[in-house]
Amino acid sequence: MSVLQKLDKSISDNAKREHWPGLIESYRSWLPVSNKTPVITLQEGNTPLIPVSSVEERIGRNVKVYVKYDGLNPTGSFKDRGMTMAISKAKEEGCEAVICASTGNTSASAAAYARRGGMRTFVLIPDGYVAQGKLAQALVYGAEVLAIKGNFDHALDIVREIASKYPVTLVNSVNPFRIQGQKTASFEIIDSLEEAPDWLCIPMGNAGNITAYWMGFKEYFEAKKSKKLPRMMGFQASGSAPLVLNTLVKEPNTIATAIRIGNPVNREKAISAQKESNGIFDSVSDEEIIEAYKMLGKEEGIFCEPASAASVAGLLKNKNQVPDESTIVCVLTGNGLKDPECAINNNDSIFNSGIEANIKTVAKAMSL
Ligand SMILES: *Cc1c(COP(=O)(O)O)cnc(C)c1O
Repeated sequence: MSVLQKLDKSISDNAKREHWPGLIESYRSWLPVSNKTPVITLQEGNTPLIPVSSVEERIGRNVKVYVKYDGLNPTGSFKDRGMTMAISKAKEEGCEAVICASTGNTSASAAAYARRGGMRTFVLIPDGYVAQGKLAQALVYGAEVLAIKGNFDHALDIVREIASKYPVTLVNSVNPFRIQGQKTASFEIIDSLEEAPDWLCIPMGNAGNITAYWMGFKEYFEAKKSKKLPRMMGFQASGSAPLVLNTLVKEPNTIATAIRIGNPVNREKAISAQKESNGIFDSVSDEEIIEAYKMLGKEEGIFCEPASAASVAGLLKNKNQVPDESTIVCVLTGNGLKDPECAINNNDSIFNSGIEANIKTVAKAMSL
């Protein structure tokens, strides 16, 4: 075979590489689905695990740090992992409408999957506290959006009651199928590292995701797919840190709107994950969150939401406790494009405007 023929062959082999069918088909035997479950998927999951040397350098000691970039899911957040399961099961049960309370990403994801499954979608959001991109998605996907004069916790109380009284299925993370779908992120991490990491750093809002990751790590460990379990390191924004402070927060406040939650529904499960794994809960200030957010963008080319950057901010805050030679995964829960306002207000880049359209002035503005 000539060199060119070889090259041709390797390209076509790559192109034929088995196509990823979404996480239900990929992890079917680990999930509560049967042949009767109609699989509603947008081929979510299989997100990249990217090494981040700028974070490694800040820690030193030969540590390996990766980010699990779940902002590359179909609607731009990890919520799709849970939603493919919750909506497929709702469809199986004959449900015709779903409802959720949301800080934004749940509503975007619920709308996309439920509409794909032919269901009505109601979303309750805190008026004025949902990032633009997320609201745009819910509207484009055809949700019926109800913005309430209250925060996420109020919205959740209302939808729980509505779902108990009317024929609509609740798809917040109290829905156990959400957690089942989300646990597949841990499977993917172990499948790719061929071992569990030493630390798993993750932002916490309602704490469904930390619950799901821990479930996934334990299941793979019990099936001998890993030899160890990670310590679960959960991080909250300091103005919205009920799990760190071990209390309710009546008026949660943070720039990281996705984790602006004062009364997490999965509180007990998150505390068990932390205790069983010898993990840590800690808070990070909005300044620390934005610093990590900016660093990921300008030093790594990774654009995540502020809430997601809390995982990296938390790791850096606790860097002195990181053991030598360890492997750490930080979960980047959502895509930075969700919140353009935050991006435009929080960067150190140069934006020169009003420049005359000729080579001389442009070159001058470039200080060449
Ligand atoms: C939902 C969400 C979180 C919080 O996840 P919980 O399961 O509620 O703890 C964090 N980051 C982003 C981007 C989210 O959308």
